[in-house]
Amino acid sequence: MSVRPFHLTRPRSVAEAVGVLARDPGAAAIAGGTDLITLARDGIAAPSRLVDLGGLGLDRIEWRPDGTVRIGALCRNAVDDARLRAEFPVITEALRSGASPQIRNMATFGGNLLQRVRCPYFRQPEFACNRRAPGSGCAAADGDGSRQAIFGASPACIAVHPSDLAVALRAMDAVVLVAGPSGSRRIPLDELHLLPGDTPHRETSLGRAEVITAIEIPPRPFGRRSHYLKFRDRASFAFALVSAAVAVELQGGVVRSARIALGGVAAKPWRGPAAEAALTGRRFAAAAIAAAADAAVAGAAPRPDNAYKVELVRRVVRRALSELEQR
Ligand SMILES: Cc1cc2nc3c(=O)[nH]c(=O)nc-3n(C[C@H](O)[C@H](O)[C@H](O)COP(=O)(O)OP(=O)(O)OC[C@H]3O[C@@H](n4cnc5c(N)ncnc54)[C@H](O)[C@@H]3O)c2cc1C
Repeated sequence: MSVRPFHLTRPRSVAEAVGVLARDPGAAAIAGGTDLITLARDGIAAPSRLVDLGGLGLDRIEWRPDGTVRIGALCRNAVDDARLRAEFPVITEALRSGASPQIRNMATFGGNLLQRVRCPYFRQPEFACNRRAPGSGCAAADGDGSRQAIFGASPACIAVHPSDLAVALRAMDAVVLVAGPSGSRRIPLDELHLLPGDTPHRETSLGRAEVITAIEIPPRPFGRRSHYLKFRDRASFAFALVSAAVAVELQGGVVRSARIALGGVAAKPWRGPAAEAALTGRRFAAAAIAAAADAAVAGAAPRPDNAYKVELVRRVVRRALSELEQR
């Protein structure tokens, strides 16, 4: 298939970008284009106008005196910021585990969070997909569900969100900064992606014509002791079957606070409060790590063809925490 012809608008300000998106219902924002252009080529998306967000100065990283970092939405996934690496290793590790160097050079933070699901039935227009065409059905439910969700799925959709970065940001309590027709607002990352329910076509809590301008991470006591581990079919250029972003704050070898977020298991980064509770107040060692790994699968509802993910979650969480403990 070829990309349908479109108009290209290069706004000079965020307000102008929002204005164009609000006025033209066929318009879509474009950042690196690594997902949107593929979808347009494959007939999944057909924007009549692209609003280029490059050139709006949204590609900077700023540190506040209190340690909060604000990362512009147009920062590339190849970003190599020494302070970001030191303060939040989980972010850099998640980015490095994604795609290829060439794609990371184009892909942006905002675009990564808003990339569409990789469910093969969504990505091929000949299959029924409630996410792509509301009410058409879910071919995945009767088909190959081996890569699909074990948490938060619904009869209408069982796809998982593919972003590695989102999982790391979830573990760091990141907030998404948004500009839209009604002004600016902040969305906790946990509230950005929506579970499918019976409206899987509503993928995020963004309103029409809203654009992500930045992602903010507050100073976190567990930020420096954080780690991302991704399990996939091959060592590079593959999406996660299961991944884990883990972080602990230690005092005298005892866990004061912890964060565990999972990827590849739900339509949004999946936080594991039971696993965090299993670590908190205990010595950061094998017994607590094993308890956290077991607790991480609480509430899982696998299908027969993806039940392997339950054990995989246990092992990925255990290995991620063990690697963190060895550092
Ligand atoms: C072969 C391949 C392998 C990949 N592997 C991985 C992987 O392992 N892990 C992983 O996480 N990702 C992976 N990706 C996905 C890749 O990281 C995303 O395609 C990329 O991050 C999207 O960013 P972009 O800037 O190119 O977005 P675009 O393609 O420009 O946009 C994507 C979507 O976001 C919207 N958008 C973009 N920016 C904004 C904004 N600031 N505000 C509002 N809307 C916006 C667009 O309208 C569009 O709907 C892979 C991609 C490919 C092609």
